[in-house]
Order: sequence, then C-alpha cells, then structure tokens
Amino acid sequence: MKNAAKVRSELVELQGGKCCYCGKPFRTNGKRVATLEHKTPKMHRGTNKRSNLAAACLGCNKDRGHKMNIAKQRKEAKAKLKARGS
Ligand SMILES: [Zn+2]
Repeated sequence: MKNAAKVRSELVELQGGKCCYCGKPFRTNGKRVATLEHKTPKMHRGTNKRSNLAAACLGCNKDRGHKMNIAKQRKEAKAKLKARGS
C-alpha cells in the first residue's frame, strides 16, 4: 500500500497544486499546507480509494471538520429522504 504522503503529493500535482475546496495554491506552512482529505469521512464508510481522496489545504480541511457535525448530517439526511418521498 502506498503511503499517505505519496498519495497526497500525487493528488496535489493532479490538482495543479491547488486546494480542491478553495482553489488557492498550497504553501509549505500555515493554513495552506496540503492535507489528505477523505471526501466521504471514514466514519461514514468512506474508503481509502483514490476516488474518495483529494488534497485540501489545512484551513479548508479544518473548517469542514467543524461544520460536518453529526446533528447537521442527520438533518441533511432527513431532508434528502423527504425530498425523495414527495
Ligand atoms: Zn482550501
């Protein structure tokens, strides 16, 4: 299995050195450091496959972590079910 750092650097290259969320170029320090992001978090049965991974800057990765709390996800899931049913 490839190590995370290598996968991350490959994704950074694929994305043209830019964050998948804010589109700003990565830097070597601070909030714009490239991190490996699971589009679907592991706790929601996300996989380690390339299709579920993206490079995001530390700022975006963190922000998202705060926003994606379980209560909100439950609410969204309910809303989706409702929309499907009507
Ligand atoms: Zn970003």
